[in-house]
Amino acid sequence: MEVKPKKCRYSKCDKKFIPFRSTDPTCPNDTCRRGFEAERKKQKELKAKSYNKRKEQIANMATSHLKDTLQLRINRISKLLDRGHPCMGTGKDDYTTTAGHFFSIGAYPELRYHLMNIFNQDADDNSKNGGRGNKNYEGRLVSTFGLPVYESILALKRKIKSLHISGSELKDACRIAHQIIRKLESENKMYTTSERIEKRLEFNQLLGIYK
Ligand SMILES: [Zn+2]
Repeated sequence: MEVKPKKCRYSKCDKKFIPFRSTDPTCPNDTCRRGFEAERKKQKELKAKSYNKRKEQIANMATSHLKDTLQLRINRISKLLDRGHPCMGTGKDDYTTTAGHFFSIGAYPELRYHLMNIFNQDADDNSKNGGRGNKNYEGRLVSTFGLPVYESILALKRKIKSLHISGSELKDACRIAHQIIRKLESENKMYTTSERIEKRLEFNQLLGIYK
């Protein structure tokens, strides 16, 4: 059988050659053989690199989605515990309920899931008074829960300096938060002032984010 000439696959060679075996990719000389091998190795490395990068991107996306989900669930727990109570910022009884962080998520991201840092707040007041909570919020924490509770909230920023939470810990916390929500929704009641604090402490423990 006649052997057809093949084009050498080394990029810097444009010759045709008669292959010894039909699978030979290059001319039978070291320059072409080694050159082609080096090129192939480099290509494989690039492919692996872009694959790993994509994998990392997907993992990051999943983590950021879990973080958002957990925040929504923690906020929901806070809202259910404060149901029927006035806005912590303004004292209004009739208001659009949002979960207002005393220490803001922007300035204190490590406290974003801490139930002792979140209370019902009017939507307007919440958006106006970003940052470290406003004076009314602070004053109302004291008048509602008493000085010791207020001081324990104030101490959070000193005690908790960072938040390291893995993907699987996030998943666990999301699942537990969901169970807490189901329980609170089925109880369907207005909690007393002391229950609002007791349950926050209890749920913080259950969630296991702040050990
Ligand atoms: Zn060649």
